[in-house]
Amino acid sequence: MPFITKSEFKAMKDKIVQKKAKRLENAEFQRQVKYAVGNSHQDASKSSANGPRSPEKAKNAYLSIKRRIGRKGLIKKLDVLFSIWIRMKTKKEYGPMCPLCGKRPLQCCFHFITRSKHSVRWDEANAIGSCHSCNFENEFNQAKFINWYQKRFGLAAWDDLFFKSNQIAKFSTAVLQEKYKELKTLVER
Ligand SMILES: [Zn+2]
Repeated sequence: MPFITKSEFKAMKDKIVQKKAKRLENAEFQRQVKYAVGNSHQDASKSSANGPRSPEKAKNAYLSIKRRIGRKGLIKKLDVLFSIWIRMKTKKEYGPMCPLCGKRPLQCCFHFITRSKHSVRWDEANAIGSCHSCNFENEFNQAKFINWYQKRFGLAAWDDLFFKSNQIAKFSTAVLQEKYKELKTLVER
């Protein structure tokens, strides 16, 4: 066993305490973000634990998140803001029910093309407010929703979106920050 002085031991202990505090802070941040976005790709049946229903409540939850964060956090915050904005927009255009099924209330932000395609991740043409069930169903029954999209917006609109989704998008942090500001203005006005 190597010999450790009292002060070295104290420094180590402080470091562990700091790490733990940071971890807790992170977990709390993640929890708040999750609550605000109200979005789950995992399990539609657990939707009750997934945060506020109405866009107004989601907006308030979002506004209570204070922490400053880096690029990864910026993307997360953009996702949250975008989700809120899309739900607000959908509510205005279609009313409070999910426009995809018409059966359940708006609960999250639905992407017709996966968010992993960054070029259309924050594209209004690629998103609509939906219920958790439809969002979950899209994981294994995408054709149904592509069909809905084509009927609602036309084949050309779908082709445009599909083409755009296959473009490689490399957003600089500055561009992301600009997007964030734009969305913030939209959501807060
Ligand atoms: Zn639905």
